[in-house]
Amino acid sequence: MDLNRQYDAIVIGGGPAGLTAGIYLSRARLKTLIINEGTVGGQLILTHEIANYPGVESISGYQLANVMKKQAMAFGCDIRSNVSIRHIALEGESKTVTLSDGNTYSAESFILTPGGRSRTLGVPGENKLKGRGISYCATCDGDFFTGKEIVVVGGGNSALEEAVSLTKYATKVTIVHQFDHFQAFEHAVSEAQDNPKIQFLMESKIISFYGKESLENVDIRNEKSGEIQNFKTDGVFIFIGYVPNTEFLKGKVLLNQWGEIEIKPDMSTNINGVFAAGDSTAKRYRQVTTAVGDGTVAALAASNYLHELKAKQKQLILI
Ligand SMILES: Cc1cc2nc3c(=O)[nH]c(=O)nc-3n(C[C@H](O)[C@H](O)[C@H](O)COP(=O)(O)OP(=O)(O)OC[C@H]3O[C@@H](n4cnc5c(N)ncnc54)[C@H](O)[C@@H]3O)c2cc1C
Repeated sequence: MDLNRQYDAIVIGGGPAGLTAGIYLSRARLKTLIINEGTVGGQLILTHEIANYPGVESISGYQLANVMKKQAMAFGCDIRSNVSIRHIALEGESKTVTLSDGNTYSAESFILTPGGRSRTLGVPGENKLKGRGISYCATCDGDFFTGKEIVVVGGGNSALEEAVSLTKYATKVTIVHQFDHFQAFEHAVSEAQDNPKIQFLMESKIISFYGKESLENVDIRNEKSGEIQNFKTDGVFIFIGYVPNTEFLKGKVLLNQWGEIEIKPDMSTNINGVFAAGDSTAKRYRQVTTAVGDGTVAALAASNYLHELKAKQKQLILI
């Protein structure tokens, strides 16, 4: 194999977890490659403003991602972005990944950080009207709904916080939630309840989206009475959780029933030399800071693994 394609560590995913791992590994003088499917930065680049990253009062997600990327590259980390994985083999000491362009890269350690994506409702009309009135990102699309009446679906922290932030643009926000109570933190619930632009449709579900060119109205079913009302709206924002981007890892590494990567406290997986970090792992809180923390632990554990492996290999040569 071309030596240039041999690395000490390969990181799959270039969001905050992957970039942090890249910074730590490269700074430890380990030859590191980050492979990222889309634009480097992950979900960070969908985030208009990050105001909860310690040490930085306020920064756009795009800017923060770019600083992380520059930092990793300055330490010598290679990055391949906008590529897709054709095959990945994680068993054994030498692990490989083949990209759709045919290039194969190998390393003795892998760190998996593919993150996640928004969950969809999966009801009629949703696919057709995605991006034409249906959105999963308030910071990306909120501005398009200035002066309009919109619906927010969900009852967790994201739904309630984003509903409040959308009142900066919309004249009225109706929160549709399937249960009679919210799963969000108390402060997020009271902030939404105290906002005069927000109203609530509890124990209700959207069961259909309608519109010719763009979204015009939705059918909302009351789960208690079974009654269906046709509701006119300019836009629907859906915040009902996320799906880990781990489809390509099925059968390669241990996943739980939700497709999240099972990890031990040092971020190691069930496969020797393979670590995971960030939103794709089995954990409760998904934030930039937690992704960055996980990326740090995974990189330090991978460095330690590589150090021990190289010492073992050296000993074998001497024998
Ligand atoms: C709209 C929005 C607003 C948010 N606001 C905040 C906030 O204010 N503060 C905060 O702390 N957190 C916020 N978050 C959450 C935060 O962005 C995430 O927790 C964090 O980005 C997770 O980092 P990650 O590296 O684990 O995954 P991600 O950011 O999801 O990055 C994963 C990367 O892996 C790539 N990838 C996926 N599959 C593959 C594959 N097969 N091969 C190669 N690459 C792959 C993806 O393209 C992506 O670039 C927000 C999220 C969203 C969506």
